Amino acid sequence: MERCPQCRATLAPPPEWAVCRRCGADWRLAQRIEGQARRLEGETVAALKRGAVLEARHLAGQAMTMQSTPFNRALTGFAVDLASHSEHGR
Ligand SMILES: [Zn+2]
Repeated sequence: MERCPQCRATLAPPPEWAVCRRCGADWRLAQRIEGQARRLEGETVAALKRGAVLEARHLAGQAMTMQSTPFNRALTGFAVDLASHSEHGR
């Protein structure tokens, strides 16, 4: 989130951007959700490294529910694809 979704003012970099300096809108909750989505993406990648494909699919789906980004959409697609191969391959 680089601009205030409400007034389009440029937001200061985190953590200062939580409250918009122009309109006073409070984005702390949104910021927390973004942080959680980033954390879940990291956990997805870690699960993929371990070969825990089903866990990765679950984590990626959770991350996408919190915040849909091109990265976690790709990550979810990859995990779903990998999980379907591992389910059918055995
Ligand atoms: Zn604003």
